[in-house]
Amino acid sequence: MHEFSIMSQLVERVVEEARKRNAKRVIEVELYVGQLSFLNSEQMRFAYSVLSKGTILENSHLIINIIDARVKCEVCGFDGKPDYIDDASYHVSAPLFLCPVCGSPVEVLEGRGCIIRRVKLEI
Ligand SMILES: [Zn+2]
Repeated sequence: MHEFSIMSQLVERVVEEARKRNAKRVIEVELYVGQLSFLNSEQMRFAYSVLSKGTILENSHLIINIIDARVKCEVCGFDGKPDYIDDASYHVSAPLFLCPVCGSPVEVLEGRGCIIRRVKLEI
């Protein structure tokens, strides 16, 4: 499961950070998850609760913020959301990002990956 490997890396990083700061425990972890990463929030929460057990993260609160996709077109200057992002078949097919205005390939500015925005520690 994709979510599990992502969360495993994340938990490891937070444990490392908490250790560096001599924290007693982790209270809260806030994530920014790109819409284009197609990570399932429920599965992320489940993975988090399993992986955090027995670590300094146990019983901490996980906040997941989904970040909308934003693309930029070099040809016509369009800057915004790709318009077909809700297509269900999109999950299985290879992502192809085209400008909704002129149809040129676009550059993805936001909405990819998963980053740790903030970690609240009890020192
Ligand atoms: Zn365009």
